[in-house]
Amino acid sequence: MPAAIPLVWSDAHRLHEPRAELFIGVRTPAVELPARADAIRAELDRAGHPVVPATPHPDAALEAVHDRALLDFLAGAWSEWEAAGLPAAPGQPEVIPYFFAHPGLLGPIEPALPVETWARTGRFAFDTMTPIGPGTWEAARGAVDAALTACDLVLAGSPTAYACCRPPGHHVTRGAYGGGCYLNNAAVAAERLRATLRAPVALIDLDAHHGNGAQAIFYDRPDVVCGSVHVDPGAGWFPHFLGFAGEEGEGAGRGGNRNLPLAPGSGDDTWVAAVRELAWWAAAFEPRALVVALGVDAAAADPESPLRVTADGLGAAGHALGALGLPTVVVQEGGYDVASIGALVRAALDGFRSGREEITDG
Ligand SMILES: [Zn+2]
Repeated sequence: MPAAIPLVWSDAHRLHEPRAELFIGVRTPAVELPARADAIRAELDRAGHPVVPATPHPDAALEAVHDRALLDFLAGAWSEWEAAGLPAAPGQPEVIPYFFAHPGLLGPIEPALPVETWARTGRFAFDTMTPIGPGTWEAARGAVDAALTACDLVLAGSPTAYACCRPPGHHVTRGAYGGGCYLNNAAVAAERLRATLRAPVALIDLDAHHGNGAQAIFYDRPDVVCGSVHVDPGAGWFPHFLGFAGEEGEGAGRGGNRNLPLAPGSGDDTWVAAVRELAWWAAAFEPRALVVALGVDAAAADPESPLRVTADGLGAAGHALGALGLPTVVVQEGGYDVASIGALVRAALDGFRSGREEITDG
């Protein structure tokens, strides 16, 4: 059996503790909470995964996939919000947009950068579900450091590393955040591996929701190929506007994007077959490394998706990806059933290890 997969960890995740999400104008309880990562950590500690603390990395790796303007906004948004007195009046304790730089509003005009935080938020946020609080930036930055530390381990020869990233990141594009995500940890990792290895990299997203962020960032590039299996947005699921099978990349990236949307209610048979299909598809590009965006919200018990995957299904998916035999960084994305999230991540990582073992022995 190969050595246990190292778990890269940042305590800073606890600084991001959203109070509420705004859904159709109504405050609803936040679901992307510190208990998620703490439950994963507890389960992987029990399973004997060695813990590696995330180390600080400069912004260069972030700037390779995100606009500087987005980073500047996220870094300063909450302190500006607080300085403007908005938590006291009108009484909004977290940064939430009210007006958006919608393409239908702008036409050919490049949007201005509004002076007021409450207006500027709509330049960078694409939904109202992703609040920025006092510790959000530090937590998101810590998650990126975890993903980059996992890259360091893999580039130094560790076959696999798992970054327990929180908040998640896979919905964030080059210039806009949302979907409970602020910085695209998996895209940062993929670009870092590609730039260091000077070779193609594959990014496979198992989260129940479409990995729209990496798709947008790498859509016209041939050197990071992106595959995503997720619940069909055409059946009424986030991100609604995209994530369809016809999105295959463009220009030099044509053919380098693959979406496998599944019907609500899909279980292990369909889901694992789709993961295997993505693995074979990605292998054809002869990537030198793999990033797995490991959301476990496709699980049957998860409140945020209608897919019906089990721990065995996650194990089989991990096995199929491990059997690719590639240096791999696994990045945590969604998963909202705190009672089972640890066991689901463990099952996926155990499956991954067994897939690698097959390669090593074979
Ligand atoms: Zn998700």
